[in-house]
Amino acid sequence: MLEQITFPVGPLACNCTLLGDRDAKAAIVIDPGAEVEEIEHLLQARGWKLEAIVVTHAHIDHIGGAEALRQATGAPVWLHPRDLPLAATLGMQAAWIGVAPPPVPTVEGELTQAARLMLGAHPVQVLETPGHTAGSVCLYLPQEGKLFAGDTLFAGSVGRTDLPGGDSAALRRSLQGVVLALPDATRVIPGHGPETTIGRERRTNPFLD
Ligand SMILES: [Zn+2]
Ligand SMILES: [Zn+2]
Repeated sequence: MLEQITFPVGPLACNCTLLGDRDAKAAIVIDPGAEVEEIEHLLQARGWKLEAIVVTHAHIDHIGGAEALRQATGAPVWLHPRDLPLAATLGMQAAWIGVAPPPVPTVEGELTQAARLMLGAHPVQVLETPGHTAGSVCLYLPQEGKLFAGDTLFAGSVGRTDLPGGDSAALRRSLQGVVLALPDATRVIPGHGPETTIGRERRTNPFLD
């Protein structure tokens, strides 16, 4: 059993998730956009060692705290290589939303579908889902039946494609070919807003035709 702690961080309320394995005393964090001290506090309180900092895409609300957390914990940052140019624009992104520019993270892990990420005995599969950004990914935990969707899919909506690097045709392919290929019962934790399921979105999301 993995313990999941999801909480909104930063001015854009990005869903940051800490996933911990109580047996292995190990954890990964997904999308530490901000509030690094709170993440460190949660790790310390549970006695978990942070093994990976996993970023679904390089928008500031998802990656803004990654370098501070890397320096605090020594855990490597994982990002899809196609989002490295976007990560280099963190200063500009900070100006857009009116926050102090965070340091650009040193990325050590290539978050492609070839990555073999594990949390204890639990595989974490990388699904490449370009569209919202060129290097957007979703993280699928087949044993738990959970999908961490970043800004690719939301409850009742999909990711915007009007920002630099966005591609609406690519997003459509990612949703139809990758995300909707998952079982209906899969629980979806989007990058913003409430949880949903693949089945509910398949039936009711007006952006999935
Ligand atoms: Zn985004
Ligand atoms: Zn976002």
